[in-house]
Amino acid sequence: MNLKEAVKKSKAYLCLECGKCTGICPISKFNRGYSPRILVNKTLRKNDTTLLKDKNIWNCLTCRLCDEQCPADIDYIELTQAIRIEAQRIGEEAFCSHGGAAQSLMRIMTSESLQQKRLDWIDKNLKVAGTGEVLYFVGCLPYFDALFTETGVETLRAARATVKILNHIGVTPVILHQERCCGHDLLWSGDLENFKKLAEQNINEIKKCGAKKIIFSCPEGYRTFKLDYPKYFDCDFEVQYITDVISEAISNKNVKFKDFNKTVTFQDPCRLGRHLGVYDTPREAITTIPKIQFIEMPRTRNRAICCGVSAWMNCSTFSKSIQLMRLKEAKKTGANLLILSCPKCEIHFNCAMKDEKAGKDAKIETIQLVTLVADAIEE
Ligand code: SF4
Ligand code: SF4
Ligand code: SF4
Repeated sequence: MNLKEAVKKSKAYLCLECGKCTGICPISKFNRGYSPRILVNKTLRKNDTTLLKDKNIWNCLTCRLCDEQCPADIDYIELTQAIRIEAQRIGEEAFCSHGGAAQSLMRIMTSESLQQKRLDWIDKNLKVAGTGEVLYFVGCLPYFDALFTETGVETLRAARATVKILNHIGVTPVILHQERCCGHDLLWSGDLENFKKLAEQNINEIKKCGAKKIIFSCPEGYRTFKLDYPKYFDCDFEVQYITDVISEAISNKNVKFKDFNKTVTFQDPCRLGRHLGVYDTPREAITTIPKIQFIEMPRTRNRAICCGVSAWMNCSTFSKSIQLMRLKEAKKTGANLLILSCPKCEIHFNCAMKDEKAGKDAKIETIQLVTLVADAIEE
């Protein structure tokens, strides 16, 4: 899709220049040089050749908060994706955090001859299969734990918890030895060519193992398979997020929980919430656990604030300000546990809590929702 087509598809030509997007944008709040309204306007100016070289095109978190407010119903994040793809084509790039380590890893995974050893995390008590109807797409968790050790997080706990939950309800999921990154981050950083290579390899591997249904614990993988793969490839897998699986198990009385005596709050991941509309089943999973006290943050569901970094790009003091603002909001609810449902939220928030600017009012214990659920299951 070229820029002209993207303007048409996103309906950017309807922009009223009202500035509601800039008014609500968390990046614009801290970075006065960034305005989605100005970028839309710049895209519409036919003779403006500076757009693709404007560093601001890489600042957006693609969190969709502005899209929810736009009176003209403009799809700003789809426009942003198209602008970035065009910018990459002329050799422009985002500033990649961590020296581009994550992006390099994703590009290494595009190699068809790459042989990975990525299943060491599967404990002996977990049942998994090599072929079958239901597949658990683990995502990049085995790599995150190696790359981001300094944040102190262990994202693979969520993978173990997901398999434990599936086993408990009678599912032995397929896990692929040669699964690749879903390509989410490359797509949103404009590298369409390598995104397609990753997608194609995943689709081929999944077809080979016979899976018809794919379960995700990572919202980015879920979004990518549900909305982005079908744009480019023929793939008719059923996709499901783990909290929807848990919700079905609760309805069918396939799962019972022990008491959990803590006060908790919940961070809606933007891919899961605003991108895919999954708001209720995470809350159902939390509130079904006996004795848990659940308090919503003031900005919740479609008004939730993102974790401050997207696709490992442009992490900055503005990201830190967003993260600390959100952590303070979580802490202020009175909760002593912040429940997350995305590995990136876990990494970015825990990184922010290690920042020297993070005071006590921004420090709160975190747990992944699947880990909470798996630990609370009554055997
Ligand atoms: S909110 Fe929508 S209509 Fe208003 S300036 Fe932003 S993109 Fe344009
Ligand atoms: S998608 Fe989010 S970060 Fe990007 S312009 Fe909109 S509100 Fe700002
Ligand atoms: S917030 Fe995330 S992207 Fe930024 S330095 Fe920390 S781990 Fe890296």
